[in-house]
Amino acid sequence: MSNFVASVGMEVHAELNTQSKMFCRCPVSFGGEPNTRVCPICMGLPGTLPVPNRKAIELVLKTALALNCTIAMHSIFHRKNYFYPDLPKGYQVSQYGDTNPLGYDGYLEIPGPDGETKRVKIRRVHLEEDTGKLMHLPSGGSGVDYNRAGVPLMEIVTEFPPDITTPDEAKDYLTQLRQTLLYLGVCDGKMEEGSLRCEPNISVRIEGTDKYGTKTELKNLNSFRSVQMGVQFEVRRQIAVIEGGGTVAQETRGWNEQKEASYLMRIKEAENDYRYFPDPDLVPMCFDDEYIESLRATLPELPLAKLRRYENDLGLSTYDAGVIAADLNRVEFFEAAMELGGDPKAVCNWLTGDFAKLLNDQGLMPRESKITAAHIVELTKLIADNTISGKTAKDVFAKAFKDGRMPSEIVKESGATQISDDSVIRNLILDVLNANPEAVTKYKSGQMNVKGFLVGQVMRSSGGRANPEMVQKIVSEELEK
Ligand SMILES: [Zn+2]
Repeated sequence: MSNFVASVGMEVHAELNTQSKMFCRCPVSFGGEPNTRVCPICMGLPGTLPVPNRKAIELVLKTALALNCTIAMHSIFHRKNYFYPDLPKGYQVSQYGDTNPLGYDGYLEIPGPDGETKRVKIRRVHLEEDTGKLMHLPSGGSGVDYNRAGVPLMEIVTEFPPDITTPDEAKDYLTQLRQTLLYLGVCDGKMEEGSLRCEPNISVRIEGTDKYGTKTELKNLNSFRSVQMGVQFEVRRQIAVIEGGGTVAQETRGWNEQKEASYLMRIKEAENDYRYFPDPDLVPMCFDDEYIESLRATLPELPLAKLRRYENDLGLSTYDAGVIAADLNRVEFFEAAMELGGDPKAVCNWLTGDFAKLLNDQGLMPRESKITAAHIVELTKLIADNTISGKTAKDVFAKAFKDGRMPSEIVKESGATQISDDSVIRNLILDVLNANPEAVTKYKSGQMNVKGFLVGQVMRSSGGRANPEMVQKIVSEELEK
């Protein structure tokens, strides 16, 4: 049996975060009554003239810069012609050509499992408009909702031959790309609402051969999990076809979430001829260096750079750094805590532990809660200077989460401070040793494990407030006397 290698190309569509559509002033939002956000321009009625949305162009350029692309300083729109009811004009405005898309020849780096970084080459980042949506009517038949028609859409396509070779890498690429788009604020990244859509194309070939296998394209993937499972399914299906003596057909396949299987949607007989030509109604886009550099200057620190900085400068593990960097809400909180002088690891533990759990239970975002970065920093300091034990801290945090009081105030009121006074602890210990002479005798005769019992007695007599490390140390000292 031969070994197979897979190749996965990724085509991602992202609806841009703009107020209005690409060429008209119809508002952009999700849902709503069908055909309530349409006008003569996005319906392509005769006599109308489109005017490009400047903000959409800016968002694509920012993405292209963040993805290390070359920017097309002179770029035009094309008409992609095909007939389908979801396309009111009979063509889609898009961008054709190798060096015409707003961005081309870039790359995205994704963090690997062992702290290394993998580079995925990107062929193009271009701007187009979304289509309408066909819907089945309850009364029978089909209708078209054009609310989405003309919404600014960005397409990001990886280079061929593909750098991605496993289902995990496909998922990691999409994860990193989505985080990047969210950091840039160019797309809301909601896969379940279709504002971020991913269509991987997959092929397999026998290891060591140069000739790439026939590709199938996969649609209807609306979560990271379905992307990973869909790619995995396709790889296995294609290998089974080849090992069974068959050939893989060039197909578009859909993903059935319930059955966790792909199904045939249509066979691609030949490449479609879209008769691309420059849109005569739209003027070319021309940029100068000054403008492009001013956009570059607005780019935020990107997710992977942030992850590596948390690792290298703040000493977080790759895992912890990744958990924080993956969520902008957490990033905001974490960085505010760092500015207040918080300890990175301790703050991270609270953010991803008790705080995350309480937020999750109540369905809240961090900033909707009564907890601020100052609460967490203060709490971690109370633990670090032994004012309270870790166990007490959990209770204090739960109280602070409820009423928003500062941890120091709660501790003061409840008298739950930790006892770290050497002489106080030593007196507690001497009392316990005097009350348990048999245990002391056993210890001295070599049964060292009774120490645990004695430490437990001391902790109990202090109401759990004695500093556990000091108790351990002083019990040993007293027993060795
Ligand atoms: Zn419109």
